[in-house]
Amino acid sequence: RPLFDAERVRADFPILSEPLDQGMRLTYLDNAATTQKPLHVIRASDDYYRHANANVHRAIHALSQRATRAYEGARDRLVDFVNAGSRAEIVYTRGTTDGINLVAQCYARPRLEAGDEILVTELEHHSNIVPWQIVAEQTGAKLVVVPVEDDGSVTLEAFQSRLSERTVIVGLAHVSNALGTVLPVADMVAAAHAHDAVVIVDGAQAVAHMPVDVQALDVDFYAFSGHKLFGPTGIGALYGKQALLDAMPPYQGGGDMIETVSFEGTTWNELPYKFEAGTPNIAGAAAFGAALEYMDGLDLDAIATHEHGLLERATRAMQDIDGLRIIGTAPGKAAIISFVMDGVHAHDIGTLLDESGVAIRTGHHCAMPLMQRFGVPATARASFAAYNNDDDVDALIKGLESVQRIFG
Ligand code: PMP
Repeated sequence: RPLFDAERVRADFPILSEPLDQGMRLTYLDNAATTQKPLHVIRASDDYYRHANANVHRAIHALSQRATRAYEGARDRLVDFVNAGSRAEIVYTRGTTDGINLVAQCYARPRLEAGDEILVTELEHHSNIVPWQIVAEQTGAKLVVVPVEDDGSVTLEAFQSRLSERTVIVGLAHVSNALGTVLPVADMVAAAHAHDAVVIVDGAQAVAHMPVDVQALDVDFYAFSGHKLFGPTGIGALYGKQALLDAMPPYQGGGDMIETVSFEGTTWNELPYKFEAGTPNIAGAAAFGAALEYMDGLDLDAIATHEHGLLERATRAMQDIDGLRIIGTAPGKAAIISFVMDGVHAHDIGTLLDESGVAIRTGHHCAMPLMQRFGVPATARASFAAYNNDDDVDALIKGLESVQRIFG
C-alpha cells in the first residue's frame, strides 16, 4: 500500500481548494456530519449518467448491463471493504438510519414479545434510539440503556450488567458521533452472544477512520452510510449474517424483491435483493463504489494515525483556552472534539468561526439524551478526516481564541 500523504489526499478533493466568499480559505471540520468528495467520486457519478444510465437487472440491453455492473460491482467492493462473507450479506440502504430501521422492523419486530429487552447505550445517535422506541411500542418490549461514564466511555462492565435473559437485540455505536468515544465492540458482541442476543453496530463514524472487519468483530449486523465515507448521500450498506437475513421477512414490498407474484401468494427473491424493493440508487451505488476504490488506495491505519495526530494537536491547544471545556476524553477516542465555552452559546461559537471560514457543527448532534447526561443543551464539535492538516487545526484554534477574546 502507498504511504499516507495528507497533502496528496487533500488535493484530490476539489472543494477544499475552492475559496469561500471574500477569498477565504475553507477549514472543513464538520466531517462527522458528512465528508467532502474526491474528484474520483464526482467523476463516477457524472460518468454513470453520461455513459451507463439505465435500470438495473430487468433489461438485457447494453446500458442496463452497464448499470447492473456498476451497481453490483460496488457491492463486491463493499464485501471486501468490511470483509463480509458474501454478496448475499450486503444490502443497499439509504444510509445508516435506513439500515437500523430495517433490522428493527425485519429482525426485531417479529421476535420481540412484551417484556423483552432492547439494549442500547446512552451515547447513541437518535437513529439508534428512535427505531427501537418504535419497535418497542409495537411489541411491548422495553428499551434498556447502558450509562456513559464521566469521560464519555461505556465500560464493558456496565454493558454486561445491563444484559439479561430478556435481551433480544443490542444496538451499539462503533464510534460516538458526539464525543468520539470508541466502544469495545468485539468484547460487547461476545458478551451479548453469551446471552443469545443479536448485535447491530452503527458504524457511521467508524468506516472512514479505522479498518472494520465484521467477521473479526463477529457482529450480526453492521450499518453505515456512503456520505461519511467520501461517497454520495442517499446510499449506504447494511451487512448482516446470511443465516439471520435469510430468516427475516422483508418489510418493503415492490419490484425486484420478489421471485413470483400472484394474488394467491408471493415469494421473495434471494438475498440481498429481498431487501431492495424498487429502483435503487444506482448512480449512488456507482459513486459509492468509486469511493471505496479511492479508499483502497489509502491505508486506514495510516489515516487513523494521522487523524490522531490532529486530535492531539487540537486538544493540547484547546486546553490552553480559558473557559473551554472538552466533553468526552475517553482513552483511544476518535478524532472528534466536542466542547463548550463558559458564557458562550455553542451557536455563537459556530457563527464566529464561520466568519473565518472554519466549518464546525453546533447543537445536540442528534444525541439529545447524551447532552442531557452531560447537562448541556448543545456543544460545538470539530471532527477530522484524512484530508485535514495542521493548518486546519491552527485555523480552528485561532478562531476559538478570538471567540474567547470577544466573549470571555
Ligand atoms: N449514527 C451515527 C453515529 C451518525 O453519526 C449518523 C450521522 N450523523 C447516523 C447514525 C445517521 O446516519 P445517516 O444520517 O447517514 O443515516
